[in-house]
Amino acid sequence: MMRLVGLLILGMAMYFTGVGLHITYLKYKDNNWHTYHPTRAPKNDAEQALYSASNVAKKMVARAILMSSPREAFHDDAIRLMPCFTDVEFAYDVDRDEGHAAHVEQHRLRPYTRRIWFLKSFFTLPKLEQASVVIHECSHIYCGTDDNAYNGENHFASLHEEEQRANADSVVAYITRGRTLT
Ligand SMILES: [Zn+2]
Repeated sequence: MMRLVGLLILGMAMYFTGVGLHITYLKYKDNNWHTYHPTRAPKNDAEQALYSASNVAKKMVARAILMSSPREAFHDDAIRLMPCFTDVEFAYDVDRDEGHAAHVEQHRLRPYTRRIWFLKSFFTLPKLEQASVVIHECSHIYCGTDDNAYNGENHFASLHEEEQRANADSVVAYITRGRTLT
């Protein structure tokens, strides 16, 4: 009897893993996604853009950590962002238009997968904004932020402190305040 239960569990595990792999496969195949790791040498224009954006973002985060006081609200968030520039895989499709530049995937139980998906409109942005997008998405993965308000929306400036602390674009504003590309 126990052996039967064991076989049943094994069978179900194999079935669901298979379905999972199949769904992942279809996602890549149908949508023409490519993957790129920002520590690798870029092989085309899209990867060059991702490489630059990741490196500019990393420099900005490092500078924000060094130039700010540990007592400042987002200081620890900036520190948490650092692994994003080595541990996260990028997926991109330069032809796919979904009305936003990038997104991350959230599993049912809150944690995000360590992958950022970049879409068509990302590749048309100026360099500094591309870096901001990387920081925004990294903050979802490593700081657990939500999108309470986007920078430029009316209520962005009037978020309560708690909402600000948990808001992706507020982290970006902290990192990039007064910064220029050098
Ligand atoms: Zn977001």
